[in-house]
Amino acid sequence: MWKTSPFSSYWLNAVFLWAGGTGCIFSAGSYHSNKNEPGSPFFALKPGTHPQSSVRPVTELPRINISHTAILSYNQQIYLYLRFHKNKFSMLDLAATKVHDEARQGEQFAPFKNDPNSYGKRFYIESYGCQMNFADSEVVAAILNKEGFGATRNVEEADLIFINTCSIREKAEQTVRKRLTDFKKFKTGKPGTLIGVLGCMAERLKSKFLEEEKLVDIVVGPDAYRSLPRLVDEANDGQKSVNVLLSREETYADIAPVRLNSNGVSAFVSIMRGCNNMCSFCVVPFTRGRERSRDSESIINECRDLFEQGYKEVTLLGQNVDSYHYIPGNGTEANAVSFANLLEQVALISPELRVRFSTSHPKDITDDVLHTMAAYENICKCIHLPVQSGSTRVLQLMNRTYTREWYMKKVDRIRELLPGCSITSDIIAGFCTETDQDHQDTLSIMDYSNYVYGYMFYYSERPGTLAQRRYQDDVPLEVKKQRLQEIIEKQNQLSLADYKKDIGQTYKVLIDGDSKRSNEQWVGRNSQNKVVIFPKQENGQHKKGDYVQVLINDCTQATLFGEIV
Ligand code: SF4
Repeated sequence: MWKTSPFSSYWLNAVFLWAGGTGCIFSAGSYHSNKNEPGSPFFALKPGTHPQSSVRPVTELPRINISHTAILSYNQQIYLYLRFHKNKFSMLDLAATKVHDEARQGEQFAPFKNDPNSYGKRFYIESYGCQMNFADSEVVAAILNKEGFGATRNVEEADLIFINTCSIREKAEQTVRKRLTDFKKFKTGKPGTLIGVLGCMAERLKSKFLEEEKLVDIVVGPDAYRSLPRLVDEANDGQKSVNVLLSREETYADIAPVRLNSNGVSAFVSIMRGCNNMCSFCVVPFTRGRERSRDSESIINECRDLFEQGYKEVTLLGQNVDSYHYIPGNGTEANAVSFANLLEQVALISPELRVRFSTSHPKDITDDVLHTMAAYENICKCIHLPVQSGSTRVLQLMNRTYTREWYMKKVDRIRELLPGCSITSDIIAGFCTETDQDHQDTLSIMDYSNYVYGYMFYYSERPGTLAQRRYQDDVPLEVKKQRLQEIIEKQNQLSLADYKKDIGQTYKVLIDGDSKRSNEQWVGRNSQNKVVIFPKQENGQHKKGDYVQVLINDCTQATLFGEIV
């Protein structure tokens, strides 16, 4: 699969196979219109009235919150592919550092190591899409664990088989349907086995899933995982069940899932769920609901817990972190916690704890956030600022709510207040009615913003989105691919030029672990989130999670090489 030209349609489809669900890249039509659609009712949960509050996994597990990734998308596949094929460094080095982990697609949820408990019943979860979905799978695991289910990676011994789905592209949904056919033999082989579908595709299709896939017993949306024990009981009594209620409150803040696959150095911490923006190409507002910010105290406690457990970096996650807004208890607007406040409170936990965040929406990132980043060395100088297009006309069709000129002013402001800060972005090629001049505008805004790297893909229509309902997907596929190729080549040039400027510089690097290329080398990242590979010192004085000063002496367009000084 890796040998084909990256731009043959098969490969591009394969890339999107792992389409991550969220992140600032996908949207659906006008959210409100869905409210009255049968099957998508909402209900509000008053804080503290959760039907199953204080869900906790088995007692010996430390209180660790899974982080949600949000933001990430299938275009990262293209980015990963480029970096994999065009660079010296091994793919595995990268996988450890980015929120969307290609290698994790289809991963089974792992049972707890040396788990003293014996379980009469077993569950199996296979996850697809973005980090948000992987984090949700760990929330589900904690809930099922409390019900006496133990995890297994062997689907044949499972009583409950779950697939946590992604709905961002047709290809992602086809993957799910294919896996369901694979599961058929396990169900016939072990009568009574239940099959459930979780995540964004469950939310998008709702009860229709049961009609289309007779094999499925349970369909649960991203906001309804607390109801799983009840739905499992109903399905055991032979009643197929669906819960796709989207919530205005649910953040699973009180659930302490287990972080099994972390490298023990950096962790993701979800600060909010859902998205209120209505980008016309994106399904996220449909599949993950309205924005809700998590209780700031629980976020800070989780980050402090992680630091006390030895983690040295947290990434605050949400589809649009800059619109984080939390009013504590029965407080008022006067004591609301903004994203800048939260960022500062997390940075104050310890100067040894690095803080990153993703994803920002250009219209919401404020000077307060930029000043807060400038004030704290441990807040990393890297901003993911999806532009999507460089043409104001296309931005309006995308309902991105800013213009080309406005976006460029935002880049100027970042350069002014945070010299040396790296900016990354998301770009869509070939959106409805895009002309060659619009495409040239995209290429020129890339030059202007000088992105360090980008996530790039061509437009693919999604059911139910505003774009699908209103606009013709009229740019021919060949033109889309051609424009995407030009955008990727532009990004390659920008990345290489930017990395070359780092040669001769010395950076403070956080060691993530052994380089996958050789265990005589460390891999880590600098504040700009650039991967750095450097040899270990003979005296073995350093370890994973240490900060070291590295002098850069070589680079590719995606990796810096150097030595400890
Ligand atoms: S900001 Fe736009 S692209 Fe990003 S998740 Fe929200 S609706 Fe989708």
